[in-house]
Amino acid sequence: MANQSIIVIGAGIAGLTASALLAKSGFSVTLLEAHNQIGGCAGTFRRGLYVFDVGATQVAGFEKGGIHERLFRYLNVPLPEAEVLDPSCIIDLNDGSRPINLWHDPSRWKEERQAQFPGSETFWQLCAELHQSNWSFASRDPVLPIRNFWDLSQTFPALGPLNFASGLLTTCSVLDLLKLTGCDGDQRLKKFLDLQLRLYSQENSANTAALYGATVLNISQAPLGLWHIKGSMQELSNTLRQSFLKDGGNLLLRHRVIGLKSHGKSGIWNVEVLDPKNNLLKLISNDIVCTLPPQCLPDLIFKPSRIEKKYMINIQNLKQPSGAIVFYGSLARDRLPPSCPNHLQIACNDPGSLFLSISNDGDGRAPLGQSTITASVFTKVNDWTFLSDSDYKYKKEKEFLKIIKLLEKFLYINPHDWLHKELSTPRSFEKWTGRPQGIVGGLGQRPRNFGPFGLSSRTPLNGLWLCGDSIHPGEGTAGVSQSALMVCRQLMANRGHKLNIPA
Ligand SMILES: Cc1cc2nc3c(=O)[nH]c(=O)nc-3n(C[C@H](O)[C@H](O)[C@H](O)COP(=O)(O)OP(=O)(O)OC[C@H]3O[C@@H](n4cnc5c(N)ncnc54)[C@H](O)[C@@H]3O)c2cc1C
Repeated sequence: MANQSIIVIGAGIAGLTASALLAKSGFSVTLLEAHNQIGGCAGTFRRGLYVFDVGATQVAGFEKGGIHERLFRYLNVPLPEAEVLDPSCIIDLNDGSRPINLWHDPSRWKEERQAQFPGSETFWQLCAELHQSNWSFASRDPVLPIRNFWDLSQTFPALGPLNFASGLLTTCSVLDLLKLTGCDGDQRLKKFLDLQLRLYSQENSANTAALYGATVLNISQAPLGLWHIKGSMQELSNTLRQSFLKDGGNLLLRHRVIGLKSHGKSGIWNVEVLDPKNNLLKLISNDIVCTLPPQCLPDLIFKPSRIEKKYMINIQNLKQPSGAIVFYGSLARDRLPPSCPNHLQIACNDPGSLFLSISNDGDGRAPLGQSTITASVFTKVNDWTFLSDSDYKYKKEKEFLKIIKLLEKFLYINPHDWLHKELSTPRSFEKWTGRPQGIVGGLGQRPRNFGPFGLSSRTPLNGLWLCGDSIHPGEGTAGVSQSALMVCRQLMANRGHKLNIPA
């Protein structure tokens, strides 16, 4: 295949997946990463004896035919060792009622939800049917949102009769589904849905698109599932890097892209990069795949043309995504409750609901007999960005103490039991991942901007492509891998090639 250069910006899961796929197809790919390590939000960091997952702690798409499994099979690299989470999460509504177990076995989950939310089965059945039709559509690799005839030619054949029926609910929210099935009076069910949906869509049941929410609510059960990777989340990035390098890819760490300039119709891009010694490098490429949040673009595009300016304004008008505060701690395993699950969600108003991930004994994150705990809470990035240094330190300490207290209360931990504890804030995420103001996750999956109505990987700037968690189908390592596959198919089709990956 033609050896034309492509530059990919950012070596998170989206950038690594896109780079590996393009390199395997014979393109000459340079992957530029600002950090000294790969992985981005799904990377890890080490503190003494402990390895902490920075952000992502569980993955979807590891089952046979799931997006990671499918791409790794195609790339001919081993899928990292992982075990399915069962339950995938235990949700404590913090109201004195029995916590809810998200079992992997569908019939066990059915029994659980019938006991927890009596009278809600019609809602769950409707979600299951919508999910079935979504899933068969998604497995035929549609291209969303549709921006030209080629996108349409990929999407139309993926539609089945059920999609036309479920399409009637395209503008509905999950709350509308609750109303439709007469379950909107169940406040406990609504609270549970709000907590779960927030994790995947950044929105509650009133604002999450029904079609997106239906799939999220079925993601934990067989034949799908959520997985805990042995070693650490870094295994996922390391394996993608292995594939990329094997196929001749060029990975440049500590190379920060600071400017992009297109040469109009020629389709050639100048990419300005700071190398590890702060020297300015000027690279040239026909195509650029940018995996940074699109909110980075207004600062990166030099002297934008009229069309480019209009596009930048659209981007600046996107609703601001959330930030995250993440606690990283460790302690001896015998200090944890005996049947402590891997993942736990605890409802709380202040500091916000906590999502906990606890390592298994000997899974590579802590020495035998010890465990790491990460606990994340959503936060508004504007609450952190504009603080003076002293106000920032004060706020950080305050949030830190609140989270620790909550963890100690729920897991019966003695304050002296902590072997390690630290906190990251949106400022830390901005530093680690280069995401503006430390925004994490993608755009909220509202009825007006999910899937068909979202931001397209195909931009109005000739040769500039987007992928990552702001592009369909959204956040999560599985979501960004799907977006990477989609952008590679579009880019290659644009160059007259086909990328066919067996299902
Ligand atoms: C707290 C938290 C918990 C999460 N939990 C889960 C979970 O359990 N499961 C799950 O599937 N997902 C989870 N996610 C979401 C998931 O981690 C992300 O959606 C996904 O990893 C994003 O990948 P990406 O490649 O699109 O972006 P990123 O991971 O942000 O990667 C972008 C890369 O670009 C680099 N970069 C930035 N600026 C520049 C520049 N100017 N030049 C060159 N390189 C640059 C960054 O250093 C980074 O490596 C979580 C996220 C967070 C923050």
